[in-house]
Amino acid sequence: MSKTPFIPNLNQAAIESAEQWVIECPKCHHAAPAMERGVFRAWASSKSKRVLARCTNCNKLTLAKLTKDPERAYTLRIEEIDQQLDQIEAEERAQSGSSAPSIN
Ligand SMILES: [Zn+2]
Repeated sequence: MSKTPFIPNLNQAAIESAEQWVIECPKCHHAAPAMERGVFRAWASSKSKRVLARCTNCNKLTLAKLTKDPERAYTLRIEEIDQQLDQIEAEERAQSGSSAPSIN
């Protein structure tokens, strides 16, 4: 009989709560869901934190603002997925124009 300090599903719980965080660059005000930057501050209890992160928009290393805002995080996530889909579509269109290699 052993007592393990291991808590099952902790990672999953962390990911789920991390999805509610929004990271914002104080320099260019570019905002993104915190999950996209691999920021795991789900255990943070206060509402607003600062984390060292590189902005994907202005490429500056900055003390980004981390805010718990599930609604905004969700909206930003949808926007990012939308942009990714547009990119995939554009790439596919560019590829179909040229001789696309076939995969056997
Ligand atoms: Zn920025």
